[in-house]
Amino acid sequence: MARLVMKFGGTSVADIDRIRNVARHVKREVDAGHEVAVVVSAMAGVTDQLVGWCRAALKEQKVFDAREYDAVVATGEQVTAGLLAIALEDLGINARSWFGWQLPILTSDVHGSARILEVNGAEIVRRFQERHEVAVIAGFQGLHQETGRVTTLGRGGSDTSAVAVAAAVRADRCDIYTDVDGVYTTDPRVVSRARRLDKIAFEEMLELASLGAKVLQVRSVELGMLHNVRIFVRSSFERPEDIDPHGHPPGTLICDEDEIMEKQTVTGIAFSRDEAQISIRQVQDKPGVAAAIFGPLAEANINVDMIVQNVSADGKTTDLTFTVPAADYQRALDTIAKAKATIGYTRLDGATDVAKVSVIGIGMRSHAGVAAEAFRALAERSINIRAITTSEIKFSLLIDAAFTELAVRTLHSLYGLDRATA
Ligand code: ASP
Ligand code: MG
Repeated sequence: MARLVMKFGGTSVADIDRIRNVARHVKREVDAGHEVAVVVSAMAGVTDQLVGWCRAALKEQKVFDAREYDAVVATGEQVTAGLLAIALEDLGINARSWFGWQLPILTSDVHGSARILEVNGAEIVRRFQERHEVAVIAGFQGLHQETGRVTTLGRGGSDTSAVAVAAAVRADRCDIYTDVDGVYTTDPRVVSRARRLDKIAFEEMLELASLGAKVLQVRSVELGMLHNVRIFVRSSFERPEDIDPHGHPPGTLICDEDEIMEKQTVTGIAFSRDEAQISIRQVQDKPGVAAAIFGPLAEANINVDMIVQNVSADGKTTDLTFTVPAADYQRALDTIAKAKATIGYTRLDGATDVAKVSVIGIGMRSHAGVAAEAFRALAERSINIRAITTSEIKFSLLIDAAFTELAVRTLHSLYGLDRATA
């Protein structure tokens, strides 16, 4: 017997038929003797609609009260939790729905992107044991204890709810049922020879998720790593009856690296086109300049990623190039222009048609020259590299957006990630 958390995303609960399908997935695990807590998202499209209604309700003001935004958007998950509990009861399974405030799932008070502080799993564990009752928990939401108000965790937050619940009830595994059947070496829509990974280490998954792979909310992987919750990403579209609950269903296990026997040098390649490059030309090369540039950007809450400094064309001053999320591009330019007097530069350049390609693998810790191979392979294809950053288990390259697919495909083959048959 195992204790499982099963999480179902929006497309998996998009209509009543699919919710009934989810109920059969849950029944399969219950019948196999497992204790089960289910975490659900809002039905597909519902959260977008709720957010849209919040915006539409606003006419005179620019921003709405984030507490009321949360009051509205938290309802999506509540509907799904209730419906799934009904569908489970209909199959003869004891089930009860739980909202964030009822367990409770305690969070910070940053409405719209609250962080989970603590989950109380005592009552649902008691009910596993005394009534064989399945807990159906609304994802994405929590409670700020001092104010007693409902909070939400940020888009995609149900993944994080699921991992937090799994940690709280000490689940053996957190199964994330989604519309893909696992984590791939790269996006299969770009590289048809992308392979599904059997296992991936928390650290690698954290990099993949942060650098552009959209399988899981980054925060959920962080939590999994912190509490050592084994996360299994699998498809919700298989027929529940076709799955042997004691077998090895297709999917990807995100786990501690000690659990991975065959360590690859490179595990995956992520990419993101949501990048922008800013270059500040002919800056005085003296102490305090970096602070004058990056201080104001930090105050404006703009995340700076890659930073490169090189000698200017005149040989006396320095050029500083860095990247920001494309959405913050204009704001970043304005911020730098405003600080022109304190920074002291001659010109400000920028580009949004850039992409960041990242190569990830814990094997890089013990292998030298991994990045050098990439530089060579991209040079052979005449792909120019605008900026480079490295860390222990990854390196990222900024290139022209037009070459994104070619670069990803080239690197995917280079590191032996291609599937044998296309
Ligand atoms: N329903 C929320 C969203 O769409 C949370 C989630 O699905 O994870 O962001
Ligand atoms: Mg999701």
